[in-house]
Formats: sequence, structure tokens, C-alpha cells
Amino acid sequence: MLEISNLIKSYPGEKAKKGGSQGGRVFAINNVNLHVEQGEMFTLLGPSGCGKTTTLRSIAGLEHPDSGLISVKGRTLFQAGDRTKPVNVAANRRGLGMVFQSYAIWPHMSVFDNVAFPLQVKPRGHRPGKADIEQRVHRVLEVMELRQYADRQATKLSGGQQQRLALARALVIEPELLLLDEPLSNLDAKLRESLRYELKRLQRELGITSIYVTHDQIEALSLSSNIAVMRAGEVVQLGKPRDIYENPTSKFVAEFIGSSNFIPGHVLHRTGEDYEVDTSEGRLHLSSAAEMPPGTEVSVSIRPETVELTTQRPVDLRNVLEGTVGTRAFLGDAVDHIVNVGKLQIRVRSLPNLSLEAGTQVFIKLPVDKLALVPIG
Ligand code: ATP
Repeated sequence: MLEISNLIKSYPGEKAKKGGSQGGRVFAINNVNLHVEQGEMFTLLGPSGCGKTTTLRSIAGLEHPDSGLISVKGRTLFQAGDRTKPVNVAANRRGLGMVFQSYAIWPHMSVFDNVAFPLQVKPRGHRPGKADIEQRVHRVLEVMELRQYADRQATKLSGGQQQRLALARALVIEPELLLLDEPLSNLDAKLRESLRYELKRLQRELGITSIYVTHDQIEALSLSSNIAVMRAGEVVQLGKPRDIYENPTSKFVAEFIGSSNFIPGHVLHRTGEDYEVDTSEGRLHLSSAAEMPPGTEVSVSIRPETVELTTQRPVDLRNVLEGTVGTRAFLGDAVDHIVNVGKLQIRVRSLPNLSLEAGTQVFIKLPVDKLALVPIG
């Protein structure tokens, strides 16, 4: 559906930063490659300034990349012209729907007119008839549960309803591709959560291929079919939410998505994907697709919620470390214990019925299939 190859966009850099610039230029995106299938909700996830918006704006035709290729359904929208004829289809001819963080609804218009407008301004020949427009607008308003507000002035809707209106307006043109740039970030936490599920339902029901930009990992994990994690203009990991969460390939991803404990060590043995890692607190066994030969300095990463905590010495002592509870924090639906294991501090998240006093002697088990191996640094 969408193909992006070797996309680069740079700006003249006043402050040429180490590693972030070449020849006095700052690379907003540096060689981005993406492949999005029909019907996907594909997310670009990363911290502020990593190049998500620049990628999205390049797809939309609002940025002119330095080089690379963008095509939708085999139709080239952008191609830099080093060896071929350059292509740069104008934004309004790309057939894409867009919803931005600051959802600019037209305040002087009714809800109905806001949604009808993109159809009414289509060029002659592409413009649907009046009855058709009416039918399409009502259908979209129905889906977005805004039908009863059709005649209301747009500004007299709540924040969440206005955001749904912005979505309705993008959907009414039946875009081949829907581009969403942090569309929920201006809303309060509760509304954001309910609209997140609504968006997912809608995307699934309508089967619209969407590109979603966010820095919110929960949003990305819960909404996406695939996630591209970006850092400093580059895609650093690409995959399904669960795979990225369970198998981060770098410390950056392990820390940015969820939280992780890192245990430093070096690879002792390796047989295929089975690793034995020597750490200051004992040997750990794990399975990883990473390519790390014996002797490599590594970090073993584990999510707090997958560490098992017990006061009883386990029978099988493989991947078991001994320690004492340092601090404890009650989180409502969970409880966190910080366990001191030698020089390490391991965070363990458990169900709230487990609550251990500081100083309690404990054992923590690190399940073989829950450990990930990441390069140090
Ligand atoms: P955010 O989540 O904060 O919106 P982002 O991941 O979307 O961030 P971009 O807006 O794509 O990041 O910006 C990527 C980099 O390019 C940043 O370092 C930004 O400062 C730089 N940049 C973006 N637009 C321009 C511009 N017009 N001139 C100079 N630098 C720019």
C-alpha cells in the first residue's frame, strides 16, 4: 500500500551536533525505509524530535525530501530526480486524509458543513452531487456517533466530539491512506483512552490503511498492527507491538517502550539461540536471536512484570538471584518492589496482594523466555 525507500530530509543546521549532522546539515530523517500493507494501522513511535512528523508530512506532500521515494498503491508520489525524472505530486492531489494534533475544525460552520466541505470543494468532475454528499456525510457522522449533532455549530461540541469531527472530515473523502499526527494528544487522559478504542474499532471496521504518529507507547502498543520505533531520524526497530515489547533489540527501545531492568555481563557460551551470560550476580540463561559471540559485553534486559518474586527458596535455582527488598510502592492495580541484589537494583512488579517489608530476604526468578539480550550503551 505504502512504500518508502531511502527517504532523507535535512535542514541547514545552525548548531551542528555530533552524529546528528553531516556537512553542517541536521538530518530530520535519515534513510527511512517503510513498507505498509493494505488495512494496517502502522505507527511511527519515538521521542520528540526523532523525525516522526517529518516522515508523515513528507508522505502528505507538505515537506520536500532531499532524496528517496514515496509511493502509494504503486503510484509514485515523490521521487528525487538524481537519475530519473523527479516526481512530486501536490498535497491536494495525493488523495490522503489527514488529522493533526491541533484539529482545525471550521468554527463558523455546523458539524454537517464541516464534514461536507471537503466534498463540496472537490474539482468539478470529481465532485459528488448534492444528494450523494448528504448521504456520505450522514454515514460518516453515524459512524463517528455525531449524527445527532449535525446541525450544531462545531465549536459547541466537547473536545472529544471535536476530535471525532476532525476524523469524520478526514474520512468523508474516503482516503486511500489516513495520516494521523498525535490526534489524541490534546485530550484529557480518560477521553484519550476511550477515543483510542474507538479509533481502533473504526479503523478495523472501515479497513482504512492508517499511519499514526505518536510518542505515547501505550497508544502505539494498543492501536498498531506494526510499529516503527524511531530515534534521531532513523528507524531503530520495526515489528508487531508484542514482538517489540518482548524482544527489544536495543537499550533505547527497551527503555522507551515500557520499563526494563538491565543486568550487565558478558556472553560466556552460545549454542544457536541459547545463551549463557556471566553477570556480577551469577550466570543467566536466555534465548535470543541476537548475534553476540562469546566475550561480548552485553546487557540482559527484563521487564519488571515478568520477574517472579518469592520468599521461598525455589527448587530449581536456574536464573534465580537472591536479594533483599529495598523499597515498595503501591500502585493501585500493582505493587512495585525494588530488590537489592548485590550491586544491582531490580524492579519487580507484582499483583497488589504481594506486599513485602523493606529488608525481607527474597529470591527473584528471571524466566529464560522473558530475558532479552541488548548491546551495552
Ligand atoms: P515531535 O514529537 O516533537 O513533534 P517529531 O519526532 O515529530 O517530534 P520532527 O518534527 O519530525 O520530529 O523533527 C525532526 C527534527 O527535524 C527535529 O530535530 C527538528 O528540530 C528538525 N526540524 C523539523 N522541521 C524543521 C525546520 N523547518 N527547520 C529546521 N529543523 C527542523
